Amino acid sequence: MSKVPSITLNNGVEMPQLGFGVWQVPDDEAAKAVVTAIEAGYRSVDTAAIYENEVGTGKAIAASGVAREELFVTTKLWNSAKETWTRDSVLREFDASLDKLGLDYIDLYLIHWPRAMRDDYVTVWSAFAEIAESGRAKAVGVSNFKEPQLRRIIDASGLTPAVNQVELHPQLAQAELRAFHAEHGIATEAWSPLGQGKGLLEVPTIVAIAQKYGRTPAQVVLRWHLQTGNVAIPKSVTPSRIAENFDVFGFALDAEDITAIAALDEGQRLGPDPDDFDWN
Ligand code: NAD
Repeated sequence: MSKVPSITLNNGVEMPQLGFGVWQVPDDEAAKAVVTAIEAGYRSVDTAAIYENEVGTGKAIAASGVAREELFVTTKLWNSAKETWTRDSVLREFDASLDKLGLDYIDLYLIHWPRAMRDDYVTVWSAFAEIAESGRAKAVGVSNFKEPQLRRIIDASGLTPAVNQVELHPQLAQAELRAFHAEHGIATEAWSPLGQGKGLLEVPTIVAIAQKYGRTPAQVVLRWHLQTGNVAIPKSVTPSRIAENFDVFGFALDAEDITAIAALDEGQRLGPDPDDFDWN
């Protein structure tokens, strides 16, 4: 039994609140890192077609010896700017991801970016609804969507995304978007939950709280996510950090710590603003 708490998505599917992210991990290294993570206790992995490590991730899953139904696998459609997306091209990419992962279903399939300037995300979302209907994804959701785009797909399809995966950490706490999610039954998943391991982990408030509990700054930030209700998917390829980031269930921040961390919000993005993002 995993000790990771889960949240119940809006279609009843259970999703672990802590997962393992593999962005920027080369395919062969991903195979190793995901095995290490599963051995450490993680049961949820976050990959994407554009990460080009679905094959390695799939190999790790197959080699892990953990039953498929105990694992939660997320991947994402790279709705590239090279083409205008149609139902058929979305289904083709979904099949390609399944194939690379060596799986016959995905737990969570996400639209990677809205690319609102291209105005095809409603079409993409209706293909996602079809994938969900087929059972080949247990849940479907989006990533990097803002409120107007969420409203638009919900209104157009009647299907509310199960998850919106967005950049979120104490310096970009996304309070308004989280409130919208809560109102509509959308789970909030935090990407770059550790602020990419950059300045956030050296902020004096975080360091002081870590000292108070005899924990590390990364563990304090992950506790903040868990206690705030976010799903968090920290990434590391270092076995000791993979274990450290999972060892966050033996302590809890108090209300004073949560308030102190809330004061760190600067509304500062480390990654691109979804309004401008349209890479190939
Ligand atoms: P992260 O916040 O998880 O930070 C990862 C970095 O922090 C590591 O590379 C390492 O340098 C450092 N680190 C990790 N554990 C540490 C520890 N215990 N102590 C000190 N430093 C530590 O950032 P991320 O990789 O950008 O995000 C996590 C995951 O989110 C990705 O792997 C990916 O799965 C997902 N993601 C999604 C999107 C999206 O557009 N949907 C974008 C970026 C990332």
